[in-house]
Amino acid sequence: MHDANAERAQPLVVYGAASLHYDFGSHHPLTPRRFGPGIDLLRALGADRFLAPAAVPDAQLERVHDQDYVATVRMLSEYPDVGPQAGFASWGDDPPFYGMHEAAAAVAGGSLAAMERILGGEEPHVLHPGGGLHHAMPGRASGFCIYNDVALAIGRARDAGHRVLYVDLDVHHGDGVEAIFWNDPNVLTVSLHETGHSLFPGTGFVDDRGGPQAHGTAVNVPLEPGTADASWLEALEMLLAPLAAAFRPTILVSQHGCDSHLLDPLAHLHLGTGAISRAARLLDRLAHEHAGGRWLATGGGGYDVYRVVPRAWGLVWLAQAHRDVPAGTPGAWRSRWAADAAAHRQGPPPDAWIDPPGFAPRESPDLATRNLEVARAALAGALTALAARDSG
Ligand SMILES: [Zn+2]
Ligand SMILES: [Zn+2]
Repeated sequence: MHDANAERAQPLVVYGAASLHYDFGSHHPLTPRRFGPGIDLLRALGADRFLAPAAVPDAQLERVHDQDYVATVRMLSEYPDVGPQAGFASWGDDPPFYGMHEAAAAVAGGSLAAMERILGGEEPHVLHPGGGLHHAMPGRASGFCIYNDVALAIGRARDAGHRVLYVDLDVHHGDGVEAIFWNDPNVLTVSLHETGHSLFPGTGFVDDRGGPQAHGTAVNVPLEPGTADASWLEALEMLLAPLAAAFRPTILVSQHGCDSHLLDPLAHLHLGTGAISRAARLLDRLAHEHAGGRWLATGGGGYDVYRVVPRAWGLVWLAQAHRDVPAGTPGAWRSRWAADAAAHRQGPPPDAWIDPPGFAPRESPDLATRNLEVARAALAGALTALAARDSG
């Protein structure tokens, strides 16, 4: 007997040559060097089902982006030196680069192709490590993001009649996705992030709950700098089950930016890989309990190339594959990337999949209390608004 579910137990991974073209330059933190150790670790786990992303036509990008913006990206993609516009600037977060339209359209294409496979029932779970460009706005680039691949995938699911739960675990507020579906009652966006008081993009506060037609369908949990696994996980666990029960999604989309990790150089949360793993497993359960198993997971931020990003991607893959986390990372993988890490003056690939207890400084009780108060307020506000919609 063939068990279709067992056969499909290994998730499809979106990755190919085009993934490497999304490259703002050698000094930019979002580097395609991530794919070397990252994809190699997935292969070492046994991943052998890959889908190469390809650029999508402009008409598809225009599902969430302004026509003028796509035209501007195309122009800057040919003439990167024209001068700052639409969020692009040579000295900023999004320096224009030659070929960037095709590179960004391929990231978008990867998430759209993943969503097509899920909608067609061919794949229950898909992982797109190069996706998750959640800051891109309809009319401008922002925070290393050109085209919003996650929003495009969500838009495709919406057009097929789905109700979408979007969970954004990146350390930065998922502002682009939230803005694009701000007034759509059939997309619930949940973002856990370091507070905008101390981190880019400076938005995502607890009272931001969605537009007039969709009140309660944006949920924001801004967390204190120094937040570690305990209160981050408790907040996430507190939120997701009741929100899913109230919203009744038919598909799950998640963004797994791992810049929330203690070792990440750009932000100030103190997560270990234990929280990253638990969160992925929580989402897997949610996908099966509430969304018929339909789940697109993307990568996102994450700037510690050897110590954090590969394990974070691997832990999401393992959750999607319904496999336990092995005790140690493969020795051959560590030796393959140790020299590369040293050459870039970065820490070597770690032995442990899960960072040990005591890896991060303990959260202060006050900090944990404040975080959980914020999470409770975010949840209560959303549930009240969702209930009012249901009865109204
Ligand atoms: Zn599953
Ligand atoms: Zn981020």
